[in-house]
Amino acid sequence: MPPADPASVSNSKFQISNPKSQISNLKSLISNLKSQIPVVLYHSTHNPTHRVDLKEAILRSLPPDNGLYMPDSLPVLDADFWKSWRDLSFHEIGCAVAQAFFGSDVPTAALRDIVATSLTFDAPLVTFAPDDHILELFHGPTLAFKDFGARFMARLMAWLTRGDDRQLTVLVATSGDTGGAVASAFLNVPGTRVVILYPQGKVSGLQEKQLTALGGNITALEINGSFDDCQALVKSAFLDRELSENLNLTSANSINLARLVPQAFYYIHAARQLPQGVKPVFVVPSGNFGNLTAGLLAMHLGLPVAHFVAATNRNDVVPEFLRTGSYAPRPSVPTISNAMDVGAPSNFVRMQALFGGSWERMKSMISGMSFTDEQTRAAIREVKSLHDYVIDPHGAVGWLAARQWRALHPGSTTITLETAHPAKFPDVMVAELGQQAMAVPERLAILANREKVAVPLGIDFATFRDWLVATF
Ligand SMILES: *Cc1c(COP(=O)(O)O)cnc(C)c1O
Repeated sequence: MPPADPASVSNSKFQISNPKSQISNLKSLISNLKSQIPVVLYHSTHNPTHRVDLKEAILRSLPPDNGLYMPDSLPVLDADFWKSWRDLSFHEIGCAVAQAFFGSDVPTAALRDIVATSLTFDAPLVTFAPDDHILELFHGPTLAFKDFGARFMARLMAWLTRGDDRQLTVLVATSGDTGGAVASAFLNVPGTRVVILYPQGKVSGLQEKQLTALGGNITALEINGSFDDCQALVKSAFLDRELSENLNLTSANSINLARLVPQAFYYIHAARQLPQGVKPVFVVPSGNFGNLTAGLLAMHLGLPVAHFVAATNRNDVVPEFLRTGSYAPRPSVPTISNAMDVGAPSNFVRMQALFGGSWERMKSMISGMSFTDEQTRAAIREVKSLHDYVIDPHGAVGWLAARQWRALHPGSTTITLETAHPAKFPDVMVAELGQQAMAVPERLAILANREKVAVPLGIDFATFRDWLVATF
């Protein structure tokens, strides 16, 4: 089977073709001359002439113009890879994809090590029926797919700053889950430390343990305020130039490009497990659309994909856009699949860039579907009775979309991404399936008995600054 035609998703913006941009390319190459010459440059989606090298794109995370970084040219895996991809291991696929994206800046041996130490768990494909599959992405330390991106990013950041004399300090404000994934990802990564700010009394007991009981290079600050106060403190720290330079601050932001690339690994890994010749429809429970964007990167690499379905809860800005062509971001509404409660998806501009800004092209490859909490709760019960499988509220939204897609398009084969372990959502799961359905994985259960260690702090920046300076 020939790979999908990469030209169908390529975009002239990603090719360096005109002489003018070649000159500015050369200029930034020269100004970026350090220990080695970066071959791939990254531009902001808001301003193609704002160009940086890999280190800046990854450590800075966000361009100053509030766009998102994209590589000037998107890689395609060669015919050799697509000849043998079905026989490769998850690691080998990871190495090939990482090499395709970062191989001109990071030596192969370092990339292999980054992949090997990030991918320490599998992403199994569970088959309900020959046309109905679930890709379990929750086997990492914090039980959600975000472990893939966060762990790879942590190790790539550590490598990019390996020669620096100062440690890299990652500052994160969290309302719960993201902080846990980032903290766990950086745990024991040499040359790095993490400072997490979380609002006192506003995260669940288990979430608090995920933030405060890790020890090592992870420090938790329990802020006597709201999540917004935590975020404001982090923002002020980045704006404080002296502090930011002295502590070598970075944000490990969730739209960091280094978090997307490792998410492309499991699309290829899952598709290769289908019978030869079957092109999957990937159904992706979505919030900020990082996961779906990673699927588009996999397709650009050459992966044969029939279609993508963007599955959302009532926060349906993207399904609405795909239906109508008009994009209307708005405040999010709370749902039981709360990791997808996003009203202004941060990766939407990347998706647009990947389709050259064309709504027609995007909707020919992606369809949107959204579901209510009542439908999601019913789906959790149905999946249990039909397949004896416990699916979390996010995966359940995906399962509903997959079923609807197969009904509308007989003969298609769906792979639904199951983004989190159900044990992370005990209230919903117990309400729908009862206590006996709740098996808590050991890596979560162990945390419950660990000691919470957190530094209590107020919400004024001066105190926070003093604490940082005195501590590091
Ligand atoms: C973050 C998250 C999502 C949404 O993923 P995006 O990449 O933001 O679309 C879905 N499910 C779970 C469990 C998550 O944690």
